[in-house]
Amino acid sequence: MRIAMVNVPLRLPADESKWITVPPQGYGGIQWVVAHLVSGLLELGHEVFLLGAPGSPDGHPGLTVVPAAEPADMRSWLRTARVDIVHDHSDGKVGPVAGAGFVSTHHLTTRPVHRTGCVYLSQAHRAHCGAGGQAPVIPIPVDLARYRTEVPKEDFLLFLGRISPHKGALEAAAFAQAAGARLLLAGPSWEPDYLARIMADHGDAVELVGEVGGAERSRLLAAARALLVLSQPTAGPWGGIWSEPGATVVSEAAASGTPVVATANGCLPEIAPPVGALVGYGTGFDPRKAKACLEGLPSPARVRAEAGARWDHVRIAERYVRIYREVLAGASWA
Ligand code: UDP
Repeated sequence: MRIAMVNVPLRLPADESKWITVPPQGYGGIQWVVAHLVSGLLELGHEVFLLGAPGSPDGHPGLTVVPAAEPADMRSWLRTARVDIVHDHSDGKVGPVAGAGFVSTHHLTTRPVHRTGCVYLSQAHRAHCGAGGQAPVIPIPVDLARYRTEVPKEDFLLFLGRISPHKGALEAAAFAQAAGARLLLAGPSWEPDYLARIMADHGDAVELVGEVGGAERSRLLAAARALLVLSQPTAGPWGGIWSEPGATVVSEAAASGTPVVATANGCLPEIAPPVGALVGYGTGFDPRKAKACLEGLPSPARVRAEAGARWDHVRIAERYVRIYREVLAGASWA
């Protein structure tokens, strides 16, 4: 099949003349989902045209990185491209195109712009966005070959994400302090007051790393004793109370042989227990229980095996290909 994959087009904050690529230079969950899915589709022998991410690496003969990212440019390319399927990750920056099937993956917590043909990242995500039970749920794919596990584990816990209240960075710091552990806090920080509060309340337990990408990101994911994903039911970035849609970091940590400690926010109770443990909301952690939680986590080999069994990028790509074929055969849901 000829598949047009529409990434969410975002300019690189550090240099607005460039775009965030697939995979991303730093922070970027949607771009990692697109990267792993594209790899899976290429491994299955499909031809992929990537839009919305000019400058992305294009080292595979089946992959074309189209130099279009503004919505009008992407639409105009699609009008003449003769693809079988348009697969949109941008929540409607491009719409359905005459002559091709249209499928989207929703990544936000809002109602999607195009509900017809929309795939959700978890059961909780589908319910949160008000979609019916017939809408497909496909979890986030991960290509295990991109994640290393051979790094010896080090004595630190990792937070990897946007340092924002809904992502539970403060709660992660409180958990680490209660467990008597060191927390490496990696990610972009756009709320200086929030970061200042974390450092004031739990600075003894926290080491601020900043945004990471490339080899440093992989090394931290592999070397951490556990990843903390303590997302909280507080105001989210797109309005409403935050409900974790798919949590890219969970499958990345598991692929790196790193277990996850998570709250029960959004998709996390669906995906975290096989690769880690759940804890409560807020900052009130009992030191004995926090230590016991860390000691009871599954082994690196077990969590990597679970990641492969649940989220392998080729198997997830196969599930999308089935959906592409159903849409081309006339299937429709909203
Ligand atoms: N990330 C990164 N560097 C950072 C912080 C985060 O590469 O400094 C990546 C992380 O590995 C993940 C993504 O950004 O792939 C965040 O996606 P996630 O779904 O976990 O969070 P959200 O998109 O909801 O912020």
